Amino acid sequence: MKWALLGASNIASEWMVGAIRAVGDEVVVVVSGSPERAQAFAKQHGVAHAFTDAQAADGALAGLGLGAVYVSNTNDKHEAAVLLAAQLGCHVLCEKPLALDLGAAQRMVDACRAAGVVMGTNHHLRHNSAHRQMRQVLREQGLGRLVAGRVSHSVFLRQKLQGWRVDNPAAGGGVVLDIAVHNADSLGFLLGEYPVEVMAMTHNSGMGQGVEDTAMSLWRYASGLTVFTHQGFTTPHASNRLELLGDQASLEARGVLNQAPGGELIWRRADGDLGLRLDHDNLYLYGLREMHKAIRGEVNDMATGEAGVQSLAVALAVLESARTGRSVAVQTPGGVA
Ligand code: NDP
Repeated sequence: MKWALLGASNIASEWMVGAIRAVGDEVVVVVSGSPERAQAFAKQHGVAHAFTDAQAADGALAGLGLGAVYVSNTNDKHEAAVLLAAQLGCHVLCEKPLALDLGAAQRMVDACRAAGVVMGTNHHLRHNSAHRQMRQVLREQGLGRLVAGRVSHSVFLRQKLQGWRVDNPAAGGGVVLDIAVHNADSLGFLLGEYPVEVMAMTHNSGMGQGVEDTAMSLWRYASGLTVFTHQGFTTPHASNRLELLGDQASLEARGVLNQAPGGELIWRRADGDLGLRLDHDNLYLYGLREMHKAIRGEVNDMATGEAGVQSLAVALAVLESARTGRSVAVQTPGGVA
C-alpha cells in the first residue's frame, strides 16, 4: 500500500517511516506547510515526492496511487488532513489527539465512515506486550473486584520537542492533550470502558508557556473503578507505571509507557508475585499490522477513530475540570474500546 505523510514531523521521521516500510508498505509522498521542510524530509528518507499543504489541497496527491495517509502535523491541522484523506478515498492513521475539540474529531470519523475508509488513531501504547497480557489476565482470571488504578506517566520532554507542545495552545500544546489521551486509551483497551467523570488539577512547573506541563486527575468509571493519573513534561528521573488493583490480585506494568518497546509486568496474588513473560515488539509496527487487519475486515486491536474521539473527550474533561475546579462529566456516552 502506498502512503502519503501529511506532516514532516519528528514522529514520522523517528518511528513511522520505518514502521510503514517494515510492514511492507511504501512511503511515496510527504506534505509540509513549508516547501523546504518537505524537500529536506523527502531527501532524508528517500521519499519520491514532496509537496506543500497548499499543493496537496489543490489536488497534487491525486494520481499517485495512494492507499493510505498518515497524519502527524500539529493537532490543529489534523482535521483538514483527515478530511483530505477521506476525499482521496484513502485509509487514514491519524495522530493523537485527533483534534482540539470533539466536534472536529467527530467530523473526521464521520468523513471516513462516509468515504468507506478505515480510520485509526495512533495510540501505540495499547500495543505494548504488557498491556496485551494484562488484558488477557483481566479477561481470563480477573483480579477479583477491581478497586483502583494508578497511572504514573510523567516524562521529560526532550529539548527538540519543546516547541509548540509547550508554548502554543492554538496548535494543541499542553501535557493533557499530549499524554492524558494515551492513558485514556490504554485504560480503555484494558477495561473496555472510559471514565464518565473526572476531577483534575493542572500546573505549570516551569516549561509550559501558556499551557500546562503537569496534570493530576481522578477518573471515575461507570463500573465503580477509580483511577489516579499523573501526566508531566518536566520530570527527567521519574519511572512510569500502570497498575490495576483488585481485591484478590493486582497487576503492575512498569516502564511500559514509552515509544520504544520494553518494560515488565508483575501479577501480585495471594500466592506471591509472578513476573509475566513479555514478547516485546515495535509498537508502531504492531499498530500498522492491526490497521492492515482492519482494512482486510479481520478482527483487530487497532485504536479506531472512535477510540480517538473517546480519548480526546477524557482529556478535554480533564482540562475543563482543572479550569473550573469542579468535577466534569466526560462528554461522550462512554463505550467499548
Ligand atoms: P513535530 O513538532 O516534530 O512536528 C509537528 C509539525 O511541526 C510538523 O508537521 C511540521 O509542520 C512542524 N515542524 C516540524 N519541525 C519544524 C521546525 N523545525 N520548524 C517549524 N515547524 C516544524 O511534532 P511531533 O512529531 O512530536 O508530533 C506530531 C504529531 O504526532 C502530534 O499530533 C503529536 O501529538 C503526535 N505524536 C504522537 C506520538 C505517538 O506515540 N503516537 C509521539 C509523538 C507525537 P509541517 O508538516 O508543516 O512541516
